[in-house]
Amino acid sequence: MSATKDFRYLIPERIFNEITQKAAEEYPYIIHGWLFADRKENFGIVSKFIMNQDLRRTKAHVKPRSWMRYKKSKIYNMRKFKQEMGVDIVWQWHSHPSGNEKLHQIDKRILKYLSNGVMIIVVPNLPDKELQPHLVGWYYDKRYTKKPIIEKMVFEIISE
Ligand SMILES: [Zn+2]
Repeated sequence: MSATKDFRYLIPERIFNEITQKAAEEYPYIIHGWLFADRKENFGIVSKFIMNQDLRRTKAHVKPRSWMRYKKSKIYNMRKFKQEMGVDIVWQWHSHPSGNEKLHQIDKRILKYLSNGVMIIVVPNLPDKELQPHLVGWYYDKRYTKKPIIEKMVFEIISE
């Protein structure tokens, strides 16, 4: 999975509404999940999301209790989902009840430890708290360069 310039990310409106609503229901907690997508030519099309039962909800970003276990669990689950569900792409997502679409310092530390990966940030749909529903991805790669490559993945909302 590489973030190339001509690659486009699409999310059906129904899934966008459901995931930003789920994040709103759990406000003010940060919640974690998995996001699945199918690859069609140069498109990544989101097909489904589920919760990640391995990571408990918290009110603030917390460091993994074991970095190695975090990495092993991520690799194990991604492999399992790809095999069992036949999905092309598996990403991790978590919510930012703060409304900030940027990576938190702890998010960056996790990506640095993994050295390569994607983090999807979901901003809850909470007009009362002045939070606009939003979903964005961050592609991180420091395998081949001294300075990490960090690319923003903009999702286009599509109606089915
Ligand atoms: Zn975060």
